[in-house]
Amino acid sequence: MSRVWNFSAGPAVLPLPVLEQIREELTDWQGAGMGVMEMSHRGKAFTGIIEAAEADLRSLLGVPGNYRVLFLQGGATQQFAQIPLNLLGTGGDGSADYIVTGSWSKKAFGEAARFGRVRCAASTEADRFTRLPTAAEYAFDPAAAYVHLCTNETIHGVEFPAEVTMATPAPLVADMSSHLLSRPFDVSRFGLIYGGAQKNVGPAGLTLVIVRDDLLGKAAAHIPSVMDYAVMAANGSMLNTPPTFAIYAAGLVFKWLQAQGGLAGIAGVNAQKAALLYACIDGSGGFYRNNIAADCRSRMNVPFTLSDPALDAAFLADSQAAGLIGLKGHKSFGGMRASIYNALPLDGVRVLVDFMNDFAKRHG
Ligand SMILES: *Cc1c(COP(=O)(O)O)cnc(C)c1O
Repeated sequence: MSRVWNFSAGPAVLPLPVLEQIREELTDWQGAGMGVMEMSHRGKAFTGIIEAAEADLRSLLGVPGNYRVLFLQGGATQQFAQIPLNLLGTGGDGSADYIVTGSWSKKAFGEAARFGRVRCAASTEADRFTRLPTAAEYAFDPAAAYVHLCTNETIHGVEFPAEVTMATPAPLVADMSSHLLSRPFDVSRFGLIYGGAQKNVGPAGLTLVIVRDDLLGKAAAHIPSVMDYAVMAANGSMLNTPPTFAIYAAGLVFKWLQAQGGLAGIAGVNAQKAALLYACIDGSGGFYRNNIAADCRSRMNVPFTLSDPALDAAFLADSQAAGLIGLKGHKSFGGMRASIYNALPLDGVRVLVDFMNDFAKRHG
């Protein structure tokens, strides 16, 4: 069997031991005589699976007892609408602040504007999203219902530090789609955390929402029941059929993370991987470039350009031939992007860096 080094931004690489266990259990989950895809979500076996997944996620992240963990569908994009619908009050007449640091937070801002009053509390678009706002640039509305941010911009490669320190007048709501579970962080600093699973957590189809109790019950009167966090929380994420297979697979990823030393363990490897790749880019004498301010470079998504874009096609063809997949940059950004999520091993980054050094030597 030969597996490629998969640098895709999402859906993305999963840990090989997890895939192997899924294969092993696909037709007969632990003696049940059927696979997880074939089970009732209300049966004893699946109840055990979802309860274990929640318990493991809580212990990995250190989720305090006054937060609900919801296993939802619709992706982070649905949350862009669901968040204002849930948090702007039963009359929908509240207002929210958005911090715009890249494509994803800009999209979240645009979608929220369709459902309520929103304002931009800071934007780095004028600097083409190459940095985070400075403390002085934030201008918050004291009456805001929440402050939204994207803690890792998957396309632009900008990441907030583990400690989000700016003082905000309202609960922080964070899109963590592309770096959730990549390092420890303080959940109690946030009112709500969300993310699509397919970047760093599991297969597509599952959306995680971790929400503080006091933010439940403020939903707009006309909201669909499946979109109301309070209804979903009251029903243990099972008002209707949840994405059972994706929850099972994510649960196996949580067990795998525990075996890596938890989030502190995986964060150490992730820091090494990122350091190796940025050192290659910065040490290439300008052949490769990443122009994100050093203190907010993403450890998960590393966009870079070649000094001569005419070499892009050769870079992509040669890297693919070398078994390095998914390096083409996002269509809105161009160039290259290496996503180096939890499940992409250090060895994969070593192979990439060797390839990049060799390519630069041949074409520099
Ligand atoms: C991928 C991504 C999204 C969109 O996720 P979907 O699950 O496809 O809706 C939103 N935000 C961030 C930060 C992402 O990386």
